[in-house]
Amino acid sequence: MSSNKNRIINIISNYNAESKKIAEVLSDKLRKSKFLIPEKYNKNAELNICIGGDGAFLRAVHRNNFPNIPFVGINTGHLGFFQEILPENIDEFIDNYLNMNFTIEEISLVDADICTRDKCFFLTAVNEIVVKGTKSKVVHLDVFIDGNHLEKFSGDGVIVSTPVGSTAYNFSSGGSIIYPTLQTLQLTPLSPISSKAYRSLPNSAVIPGNIVVSIKPELRYENSILVINDGVEFKYSNIEEINLTLSNRVITKVNFDKNMYWNNLKSKFL
Ligand code: NAP
Ligand code: MN
Repeated sequence: MSSNKNRIINIISNYNAESKKIAEVLSDKLRKSKFLIPEKYNKNAELNICIGGDGAFLRAVHRNNFPNIPFVGINTGHLGFFQEILPENIDEFIDNYLNMNFTIEEISLVDADICTRDKCFFLTAVNEIVVKGTKSKVVHLDVFIDGNHLEKFSGDGVIVSTPVGSTAYNFSSGGSIIYPTLQTLQLTPLSPISSKAYRSLPNSAVIPGNIVVSIKPELRYENSILVINDGVEFKYSNIEEINLTLSNRVITKVNFDKNMYWNNLKSKFL
């Protein structure tokens, strides 16, 4: 094995006591293998190890502004769909990492341009961007795909999900599971109303990632729209249009097992 001098690994842990304990054990083991484990997040690291659940992973990605450094997750959370290493398999993980028994997988992200009367704001999400109403009111939205008017949506809102986000909120809302390497977005309705008064598509649509999904709130709703980015709420005044598309940026994950996705799906959802 070549020298691990100057090889830096970030360990990003949530505040849960078990995660902190695992972070310490892991740091000791990696230091013994001559890795440098910085106290603070280091942009020159070769790997980000995130300890916690899916929420911890999502926060680590957002806080560090979608870094180029590959991620791997150790699950101490509830579900941990992104967090594929179990705490009891840390030694095996270190061996596989040192022996380069892994592939690097790209994770597509969704970008949203949110244009208000005065200016535009930009968001990126790993799982999804949700457009909902404030105060539990029905929202009325015009939805366009690639500039074509699709529907006047009425209901709780819509989810625009990435492939990795398809197993999250999208899945609970009746959306389909999309394999992570597919370049698509999924538009999924939240309690769509289909009545004599309003008609909305009852099921989700899977859309090529390179075309734009546009959502325009009806004029009287422009101030009662919530935009939710991976579970974090944003509120803007006078929203005119939200344009969503698969991002040019990606993040990467280390994958130690080519069957991981399907096994994970079965063990975490059935
Ligand atoms: P949270 O309230 O803990 O998340 C809800 C659940 O979703 C957790 O069990 C979480 O796993 C899991 N999860 C997150 N990303 C996932 C993915 N890509 N595939 C499968 N499961 C996933 O909040 P959070 O941990 O900060 O996660 C934010 C996400 O929660 C949002 O992006 C949204 O997708 C999801 N969410 C779901 C619903 C719903 O299903 N009705 C409603 C609101 C938000 P952990 O237990 O490991 O954290
Ligand atoms: Mn969580």
